[in-house]
Amino acid sequence: MSGQLNRREMMKSIASLSVAGGMVGLLAGCESVQPESVQMKEEIDVSVSPPGPKSLELLERMKKVVGRTNYVGLYGVAIADGAGAYVADLDGNVYLDCLAAATTNVLGYSHDEVAEAYFEAATRMQNSCFPYSTNVYAVELAENLVRIAPGDFPKKALLGLSGSDSCGGSIEAMRKFTGRTALIKFENAYHGSTGLSQPASGFRSLNEGVYPPSPDFISMPFPVTVEQRDEVLAQIDSMLSEGNIGAVMAEPIQGDAGILMPAEGFFPMLREKLDAHGALLIVDEVQSGMGRSGKWWAIDHEGIAPDIMIVAKGLSGGYAPISALVGRQEIIDALAPAQHLFTYTGHPPASAAATAVIRTIEKEDIAGNASRMGDRILAGLREVQQGYPDVIVEGRGRGLMLGCEINVSKDELAGKIFAMRCMEKGAYFGYFGDKQQVLRIEPPLIIDEGQSDLIVSTVGEVAKEMQSGTIPQTTIDKVKSYAIGL
Ligand code: PMP
Repeated sequence: MSGQLNRREMMKSIASLSVAGGMVGLLAGCESVQPESVQMKEEIDVSVSPPGPKSLELLERMKKVVGRTNYVGLYGVAIADGAGAYVADLDGNVYLDCLAAATTNVLGYSHDEVAEAYFEAATRMQNSCFPYSTNVYAVELAENLVRIAPGDFPKKALLGLSGSDSCGGSIEAMRKFTGRTALIKFENAYHGSTGLSQPASGFRSLNEGVYPPSPDFISMPFPVTVEQRDEVLAQIDSMLSEGNIGAVMAEPIQGDAGILMPAEGFFPMLREKLDAHGALLIVDEVQSGMGRSGKWWAIDHEGIAPDIMIVAKGLSGGYAPISALVGRQEIIDALAPAQHLFTYTGHPPASAAATAVIRTIEKEDIAGNASRMGDRILAGLREVQQGYPDVIVEGRGRGLMLGCEINVSKDELAGKIFAMRCMEKGAYFGYFGDKQQVLRIEPPLIIDEGQSDLIVSTVGEVAKEMQSGTIPQTTIDKVKSYAIGL
């Protein structure tokens, strides 16, 4: 009884801290400075030119103690707070969040049901080390994942900590099940930063000097046109006949490549070819999943099921690092005990948060909202594109997984400059693509009509400035100083 009261008291005080929000003070030594008790406004307010002095001070401190590979900053801004679909930086500027911490924060901020689920579990038991002692939170999460993953066949889940390790786990399972080692991957795919997920990625030069080229990872262009589709499928078909290809691994919509939509019919045709050769389809839903595309999974739009699917990022709504791969039972169970596990596997608070996210997405029809708002934004982007065809190449995507490609043929920095200018106007987008030329429009899935229209109007304003050559020189200078990007 008193234990329960203590837990409740603790949750209340933690919750009041998080609701009070406010800026997290800078830490001096190991002392923590308590956040100021300020209620964050849910409206755009950029009154300190970003990145402001507090962000820049933190950036300098960071550079002294954190290795450079950890940080590929977009604007030099440090994020300090969030409410609804808005984020605040350390200098107090408030932006409409169109990045959602790289698509983790699917329910936005201050969505207390998930935080409470996390705290409730954390105050009971922070870790059970699932590999040694199972716990109810992890099992409940696996039951839900198996239920909502695509495919009408017996499935099992393997829980993990990041998109990277779960992508790697899917290759381990494929190798063990098929007895084959090779994988077909796609150019500019991003599957992660660990031992198997990094060579499985085709993203620029990230493998250089770390993972030497290997005949086990074969790269193909990601087909976006019907002609490319037929060419790529013919090549895959002939490689499959050679016998050592265990799987094709693909994002159903390529994310970091700059929102590339697969050619119509590509996935169903690929599925047929793989089935004919006893090879597997591994689909990476790390970025596209959890309702972002307007359905639970982007592959649901293709009318087929993969053999293995990977989910991470939005799985916990950003509250905890947790991931999973879900697949055909016999493939998942090909791995022997201890071939894929971690001390933090099935972490109770992280699992409880993930289950609360799944429940909320279902209860509030979050995927339906993503579909409606996505259609609205895409229609708006296409109109802006027609008005400024020299500046904007194309708006594309599905649901709230959207991209707006900027013309970089005359200025290779144009994509970053466009994004930086939007940020100065209060829309916090990302940017990505092989030339960093695509504005990344992946807001929390809870945005409303007004916020959707604001996204479009900001893109319109900046397109107009680009067209007329009136982007301030200070914005261009900031890009040169602070915009790194992946
Ligand atoms: N797959 C995809 C499609 C991703 O977008 C990412 C992250 N950008 C990953 C895998 C890797 O996930 P994580 O960073 O959580 O390891």
